[in-house]
Amino acid sequence: MLTHSTILGYPRIGPRRELKRALEAYWDGRLDRDGLDRVGADLRAGTWRRLAALGLRALPSNTFSEYDHVLDTAVLLDAVPERYRAAADPYFAMARGADGLPPLRMTKWFDTNYHYLVPEIGARTPLRLAGDKPIREVREARALGHETRPVLVGPVTFLLLSEPAAGDPPPLTRLDDALTAYADLLAALAAEGVEWVQLDEPALVTGAGVAQARRAYEWLGALSDRPKLLVASYFGEPGEALPALAATGIEAIGVDLVRGGPVDPAALGGKTLVAGVVSGRDVWRTDLGAALYELSRYPGVVVSTSCSLLHVPYDLDAETGLDPALRERLAFADQKVAEVVALADRLARGARGRAPSPRPAGRPAESTLEGRAPYPERSVQVGLPPLPVTTIGSFPQTGELRAARAALAAGTLDQRGYERLIEAEIERVIRLQERLGVDVLVHGEPERNDMVQYFAEHLDGFATTRHGWVQSYGSRCTRPPIIHGDVRRTAPITVRWTRFAQSLTERPVKGMLTGPVTIVAWSFVRRDIPLREVVVQVAEAVRAEVRDLAAAGTSIIQVDEPALRELLPLRRERQDEYLQWAVAAYRHATSSAGDHTQIHTHLCYSNASEVIAAIDGLDADVTTIESARSGGRILGELDGFGRGLGPGVYDIHSPRVPSAEEVGDLLDAVLKVVPVERVWVNPDCGLKTRTYPQVEAALANLVTAARERRPSP
Ligand code: GLN
Ligand code: ZN
Repeated sequence: MLTHSTILGYPRIGPRRELKRALEAYWDGRLDRDGLDRVGADLRAGTWRRLAALGLRALPSNTFSEYDHVLDTAVLLDAVPERYRAAADPYFAMARGADGLPPLRMTKWFDTNYHYLVPEIGARTPLRLAGDKPIREVREARALGHETRPVLVGPVTFLLLSEPAAGDPPPLTRLDDALTAYADLLAALAAEGVEWVQLDEPALVTGAGVAQARRAYEWLGALSDRPKLLVASYFGEPGEALPALAATGIEAIGVDLVRGGPVDPAALGGKTLVAGVVSGRDVWRTDLGAALYELSRYPGVVVSTSCSLLHVPYDLDAETGLDPALRERLAFADQKVAEVVALADRLARGARGRAPSPRPAGRPAESTLEGRAPYPERSVQVGLPPLPVTTIGSFPQTGELRAARAALAAGTLDQRGYERLIEAEIERVIRLQERLGVDVLVHGEPERNDMVQYFAEHLDGFATTRHGWVQSYGSRCTRPPIIHGDVRRTAPITVRWTRFAQSLTERPVKGMLTGPVTIVAWSFVRRDIPLREVVVQVAEAVRAEVRDLAAAGTSIIQVDEPALRELLPLRRERQDEYLQWAVAAYRHATSSAGDHTQIHTHLCYSNASEVIAAIDGLDADVTTIESARSGGRILGELDGFGRGLGPGVYDIHSPRVPSAEEVGDLLDAVLKVVPVERVWVNPDCGLKTRTYPQVEAALANLVTAARERRPSP
């Protein structure tokens, strides 16, 4: 039954991160396969029980995953690259790697902070129904008394998100094979008595794959032996995909009305609209009156969330420490389910809501570029040798530091005691870098739990949660801060630590800040003013911090912007406008440094083609960027860069320590593209996740490789 109310998906890590704990125990050998399966079964049962108790009528299934739903789809379709097949556990080998076998590449699920594993589909990769997970979940739910609608990644999105094996054509050329596999699955589900299946096709909102989707759903729609099909587009307006889907034989279309705005009821071609009016992408309560008004335009509508609730925390009721005035404005997954149900009930009773009040237009975001001369005129000489060696900021976060933070929060360690511990750690990191011969030092970021949360905790307008975990990938979760009001810095945040670190050494210590776009991208953002205004407010706060750091004599300040690409609109035609204001915000944040302070920036990915011009536009004196991990692929794109560059020469994602020769080879490759006087020598990213022995050995090799290549004076 697909009537009344549904949701497109639900979190799965567990209300208390039960799956995370179970996975980690399983990987460590502390829990066996049965134990892991039991935790999964309990979580699924808990989800269905909860959704039914909240009054939801049409329950989804197959929204659970042990690691990632795209990986699940690949395994279901037998799209397992040959090299993983012999592994003891191919699923987790693809997810995490296994003896000598690197995992599949991981990347962001559209513009969310969820990461999926990129399936590899070559010309000969099998594509056939090889699993029964969706069927098992249907049976499992049925045994508990729930009829469910299995949720699957649709064939077009699945293939568009996959990458070809080396030298092979794009995976979408395998659409016919995939469709055969989907048809087999649909037949099996029909035989199981399943009434509805949901096929997720978010890729369609990017404008890609529309013709293929039309062909795919014409074909699947024409099958006689199948459940009814709901094809769900989300994360944006369906655009040309809507008439394409409406022309096929499917029964229902899911549309994200929050992100995409209203659609023309006539364009639905008589299909049932599954109307995503409750946002799955933020933590705000829905304006029920406005949603009802919108819903009443579509006859026979099913009320739903805009996308899966995977991207929001479970339950606001767990969050007892929030300011009551803020709490009133919030809704997490369970509250959103309740909203969907309430809307469906009111709609069924004939309520029509009221037109939404127009959004405030918002002032145009202003940004000042004053304060810095053009690059060639800035005197940022800091007396460094050629090929200066530096790091990206963080040093290993020891268990001791985490324990100290927990003790501070629990009140068993006082502020002074905590600060003394941090100072001791900073001193250790400074001495280590001096001993190793690093040229530009960092304080190591021991006081930061996270590069965004730390700033959120020190700025007005942000709230942070204790239990608001959201899955990032596999067992990893983050707690995005909530930007609920005007952002303001009330006092310097980092100056104290930077100053302390600098007092310990003659060498320059970099100040270390997170950029405005990244702070916003990794938070839940208020909706009452335009996104770019929020970014400008944060930029203003960072600008004040940059100014204070510079005034305190900091000669180099690094402002990281690793999420610059993440807010990039999914539709290409909107990307330029975004990049313009995002870059302007960064320049606004950093131009208070004046002409005597070097600005560094850092980005931790290498497939940056879409934003490479924008990175140049940031106008940082030095840009450090991931390169080692991706085999120097970025180097080909960097020739237009006119300023300092540090393509990473140490892959920090791996516990492996590269030899000085290996680092030297990478550096030589950089020196072929970038003149020596502009090259910096650094790792790909922060060292937070590594151990001290690994870091010491690797940095020593960086210093050796750099010194061997320094032109003699
Ligand atoms: N300065 C941060 C660190 O070193 C940068 C992290 C990042 O780029 N994600 O940890
Ligand atoms: Zn990084």
